[in-house]
Amino acid sequence: MWRGNTRPSTALRGLTRGPRVRLWPPTPDPQPEPRRVAVPFRQQADIGLYILKQKLKGNKRYPLVLMLEPLFRCNLACQGCGKIDYPDLILNRRMSVEDALRAVDECGAPMVAIPGGEPLLHKDIGKIVAGIIARKKYVSLCTNALLLEKRLDWFTPSPYLQFSVHLDGLKEHHDKSVCQEGVFDRAVSAIKAAKARGFRVTANATIFDGHAPEDIAKFLDFCVEAGLDGVSISPGYAYERAADQEHFLARAKTKTLFRRVFELAGKSREILTHSPLYLDFLAGNREYHCTPWGMPTYSVFGWQKPCYLLGEGHVGSYRELMETTDWDSYGTGRYEKCSNCQAHCGYEPTAANEAFSKPWEMLKLAVQGIRTKGPLAPQIDLSQARPAEDVHEAVVAEQMARFERERA
Ligand code: SF4
Ligand code: SF4
Repeated sequence: MWRGNTRPSTALRGLTRGPRVRLWPPTPDPQPEPRRVAVPFRQQADIGLYILKQKLKGNKRYPLVLMLEPLFRCNLACQGCGKIDYPDLILNRRMSVEDALRAVDECGAPMVAIPGGEPLLHKDIGKIVAGIIARKKYVSLCTNALLLEKRLDWFTPSPYLQFSVHLDGLKEHHDKSVCQEGVFDRAVSAIKAAKARGFRVTANATIFDGHAPEDIAKFLDFCVEAGLDGVSISPGYAYERAADQEHFLARAKTKTLFRRVFELAGKSREILTHSPLYLDFLAGNREYHCTPWGMPTYSVFGWQKPCYLLGEGHVGSYRELMETTDWDSYGTGRYEKCSNCQAHCGYEPTAANEAFSKPWEMLKLAVQGIRTKGPLAPQIDLSQARPAEDVHEAVVAEQMARFERERA
């Protein structure tokens, strides 16, 4: 699963593709020349055209990436995961191929990210992916890679498909993060196997408090050397259902950490698949409000309000989601649960929108690079945020009742 990060970013970089991020001040040490990571031109063109059409139509709210969760069951139990704390009746539920493809059509986003749970536990995942590709939509299948080598035969390499492998850092860090030894080595072996078969493979890393910036920079070097096609990185969202509640990053700390990572990473930072504007936001040089409808989520529960990270209720159709969600009641400064969120699924669409509406901001970044010193941009006032509502038990009870009814 992707806990706040990762999959769609490769594609989104295409939306806001501009000059590579240059950091300030320049790193004095010589850095290894990274492998050029490019978002395929076709993808950039398709996504750019899609956004342009939405702008010309005057659509204020449109989806960029559908987050499709075909199951919640996983073969790991990571401490920072907020997606697997459900009874077996829910964990055993699988989305049908028809249901998944209907959601893809209903939403109309040009990209689909498939997190979970672990999508490779779904016996029909190959058919779901093939159906999405047949619709000429870009798919990012997120996986912890434990089953990837075994399942490669279910897929065919395509410019529309990438595997996004969950790697939170180097071996010691990753194995600790996923609470199981040996997972890093198995993921790396699967990455090599998938690359050898001609698949595009990226990594997705979720960053938690206590992860040393030096280690994160070395991890990026490793990803370059391993031949990965990109890395998406995101501060972990503070899931209320995660077992470990102590290591989620607070807002200001995130910015300081990412500034240091950008300073240390040298050229290896070029493997990051995010738009420069989102990286500049992570470095604390600009403040953004999120765009929760940019990455709508469809799971075995239905269409999730309001975003991938927050499950405050579910509705039966995409249209209902767009029309009945009170969007103004969510976001940093508005809702307590959003206070520390800087995850890319909420903010990359904001960055993409800014790249279109204020292209000079991209130019400025190209010339100046991402500033890693000096004051942070003024932060959003959190004092007026409405208090967190405890909705989890009600959501689970509602879905359990529905599944029981359907089983009877
Ligand atoms: S790999 Fe970890 S983070 Fe991803 S769904 Fe499984 S338990 Fe959650
Ligand atoms: S800040 Fe936005 S993207 Fe983040 S949890 Fe809140 S609504 Fe979702």
